[in-house]
Amino acid sequence: MSAEIKQQSMPIKAGAGWKEIPWGGVIPQGGTARAFNVGGWRSEKPVWNREKCINCMMCWLYCPDMAIMVEDGKVAGVDYDHCKGCGICSSVCPPRVKAFEMVPEHE
Ligand code: SF4
Ligand code: SF4
Repeated sequence: MSAEIKQQSMPIKAGAGWKEIPWGGVIPQGGTARAFNVGGWRSEKPVWNREKCINCMMCWLYCPDMAIMVEDGKVAGVDYDHCKGCGICSSVCPPRVKAFEMVPEHE
């Protein structure tokens, strides 16, 4: 195995310095969003309305933090420990449905 491939397959540890992370900032592992609690970053939070949702799963597909919870193939809510409040779920929810509303985090 070449040195390049060895470095690209190294696990990334939380708090790693620049000499320890893979070249180019490449993230060789999948599913790393689960390893970090980003809920404290939010200034706005998505509030999901079960009654309006048609379970098209667009929010689940586009959420960058795997924060849309799913049970039995249907949306079940938001995992606020991993939701950073980016608002993508609200943006991709069909306009005629609008099952997500972004509200200020501290009201
Ligand atoms: S606000 Fe962003 S991080 Fe939170 S659930 Fe929606 S898409 Fe995911
Ligand atoms: S994008 Fe909207 S309608 Fe589609 S599953 Fe998510 S909340 Fe439900």
